Amino acid sequence: MSDTVERHEFGAEVGRLLDLVVHALYSDREIFLRELVANAADATDRRRFEALTNEALALPSDAKVLIAPDKAARTLTISDSGIGMSKEDLAQNLGTIARSGTRAFSQALGEAKADAEGQDSRPSLIGQFGVGFYSAFMVADRVTVTSRRAGADDAWTWASDGKGSYTLEPASRDQAGTDIVLHLKEDADEYLESYRLDHVVRKWADNIAVPIAIRDEEG
Ligand code: ADP
Ligand code: MG
Repeated sequence: MSDTVERHEFGAEVGRLLDLVVHALYSDREIFLRELVANAADATDRRRFEALTNEALALPSDAKVLIAPDKAARTLTISDSGIGMSKEDLAQNLGTIARSGTRAFSQALGEAKADAEGQDSRPSLIGQFGVGFYSAFMVADRVTVTSRRAGADDAWTWASDGKGSYTLEPASRDQAGTDIVLHLKEDADEYLESYRLDHVVRKWADNIAVPIAIRDEEG
């Protein structure tokens, strides 16, 4: 590891959430794509909004969310041309649980555990709550996020195997935006198939205003 790589520990709450999402029910796993596409669309909307008062941040005319499976590499990449994240944003947004939704989820988790009579009801909560970015670890054993904040020249890569820590290191990206690269678990091959991805997007991301494209490896 080069000396420009910084390693950071996750907070306790993140650890608890990650532990749960990796043990999610298979039937709930597909919602990871809903969460990542929603984040990409939110980031695109944010850039569009900031560009209203700062022309330099204008979105490229072909701005979209691109979902790209790579069978040889066994990766699934979700890319956007949105607002992007600085190094500090990556550490803050992906290294801690700041938002209320995830807090509510954490609380529901604690209660479900207490109420359960023999049966573990926690995994079914995944489908009910938005688990957000960390749901990526339901299907991936390693996630890298390369991002460049709109208006900035530097890019950074956040990487984690979801087991207690993450790294941050300098990267390069031609334009502002974010690439989320999922290194798929062995039992998550279905998410390399464009028809499967298409099905999940139609089911969960129908109301997203930003265009969504699924790269078809064969086509
Ligand atoms: P939420 O979307 O409810 O805020 P998430 O766990 O889904 O929670 O994401 C956490 C945060 O990470 C987001 O609020 C956002 O600041 C940041 N983020 C995630 N994905 C992206 C992305 N593709 N582009 C820019 N920021 C992102
Ligand atoms: Mg989200």
